[in-house]
Amino acid sequence: MRPFRYERTDDVAGAVALLSREPQGAFLGGGTNLVDLMRLDVARPDVLVDVRRLTSDRIEELPDGGVRIGAAVPNSDLAADPLIRTRYPLLSAALLSGASGQLRNLATTGGNLLQRTRCVYFQNVTTGCNKRQPGSGCSAIDGYHRELGILGISPACVATHPSDMAVAMVALEAVVHTLGPNGERSIPVAELHRLPGQDPEHDTVLEHGELITAIDLPPLPDGVRARYRKVRDRASYAFALVSVAAILDVADGMVRDVRIALGGVAHKPWRARIAEDALRGGPVSEERFRQAAEAELAEADPLPGNAFKVPLARNTIVRTLLDLAGPDLGGMAPPPASPDAPDPSGPDPNAAERGLDPNAPPAAAAGAAPPQDRTQPRHAAPPEEAEQPQEATRPQEATPPQDRAQPRHAAQPQDPGAAQPPNNPGAQPQGGPAIDPAIMDPEMESGPEPSGPPA
Ligand SMILES: Cc1cc2nc3c(=O)[nH]c(=O)nc-3n(C[C@H](O)[C@H](O)[C@H](O)COP(=O)(O)OP(=O)(O)OC[C@H]3O[C@@H](n4cnc5c(N)ncnc54)[C@H](O)[C@@H]3O)c2cc1C
Ligand code: SF4
Repeated sequence: MRPFRYERTDDVAGAVALLSREPQGAFLGGGTNLVDLMRLDVARPDVLVDVRRLTSDRIEELPDGGVRIGAAVPNSDLAADPLIRTRYPLLSAALLSGASGQLRNLATTGGNLLQRTRCVYFQNVTTGCNKRQPGSGCSAIDGYHRELGILGISPACVATHPSDMAVAMVALEAVVHTLGPNGERSIPVAELHRLPGQDPEHDTVLEHGELITAIDLPPLPDGVRARYRKVRDRASYAFALVSVAAILDVADGMVRDVRIALGGVAHKPWRARIAEDALRGGPVSEERFRQAAEAELAEADPLPGNAFKVPLARNTIVRTLLDLAGPDLGGMAPPPASPDAPDPSGPDPNAAERGLDPNAPPAAAAGAAPPQDRTQPRHAAPPEEAEQPQEATRPQEATPPQDRAQPRHAAQPQDPGAAQPPNNPGAQPQGGPAIDPAIMDPEMESGPEPSGPPA
């Protein structure tokens, strides 16, 4: 790793001012992505400005019923927070489907949004990659691109954005607040990430030195159903091949409103507006779900090695909407996000994971405990959560280059239950803590579902 300076400032304005003067510098959140990339010599900052203890680590209720999440809130705290679990269970589910307990303890909300692509050529400095080195070409287009994009791609880059959390936030119409060299601004998460175009080196619309300070989640209407479904090669420690965050509002058999965001298919979380428009105002039916998904995916421009993602995305959209529509259509609906969701003032089922007494009064479980020493880790590493089963279609192809920042010896897809070796820092015992049923995918316990299209 190249030498670098480590800096801390007293306030966010100081951090922004400092980084603005350092064209090769970077903010440091939990470091779970940035430090990996520095080890691989992909990221070469000469200064790291630590913001993990600088921006807010609070989750606060807003007067309009929404929630504000400080950019420094760890992913594990966000997933376990009672307000999030009850009002936005798809966000908890998305977070818990990613990385490992240890990584989520360290990773921050701001850093998660800005994590970089897992394209194997981006991580390998011996290969051409326009995102890492503009003008050096895209090795993925004629190379290995199985996990890469099918929507919004360009001849310069076909990478995907890897964040699960960001996909849920796009469906929730979350808004990012920033402070930059030119002052404050608010950006819908749907507009934060860019399509690659001819300049894929820019992942987002943020300027150099612009700091994410908080993310707001607007309130969801009462009675809507929401869900995050992630399809991946193995049950744990794998990025999405395709994921769907969907919110469905049905009244008298008609779609009153619907929001669909896709992950694993584009350079940014993909809001499926064509599908939404096709569904809104019409009757609920499997055929209409399929037609809407196909209308959205008519835009897809897959490469030979990832054409399987088109039917996979269609099937995942249809399956997710069916589940939200309820048992009448053969789905398995989770409980509504509100108002019938479990009382957030009740006992916290994740209390053990959060290092709290499960029988503690609700205020403590909700985080009203005395301020903590923020230099200390907050949680013991939790046991791994139950993970979602597979439904991926597996095309025949050459062995892929490895994601160089992934553990090398993780369990193989053919053997999802295999024990992980002792040198895997994320290895956790299976069958961990109780998880709020509101965020548990019912299929997590009922085994894999068919990989073909819904009947
Ligand atoms: C083995 C492994 C498996 C993983 N699996 C998944 C998965 O399945 N799903 C998933 O979604 N993620 C997964 N991840 C990625 C993980 O979620 C990210 O590494 C993490 O969320 C990044 O957060 P961080 O705080 O550590 O960011 P950092 O690594 O600190 O920073 C990431 C980027 O954000 C910038 N940054 C950080 N904070 C701010 C801020 N407040 N304002 C502006 N810029 C900022 C940094 O400069 C850097 O460019 C995995 C990671 C690993 C290592
Ligand atoms: S897809 Fe993008 S990130 Fe991957 S090699 Fe091509 S330019 Fe680089």
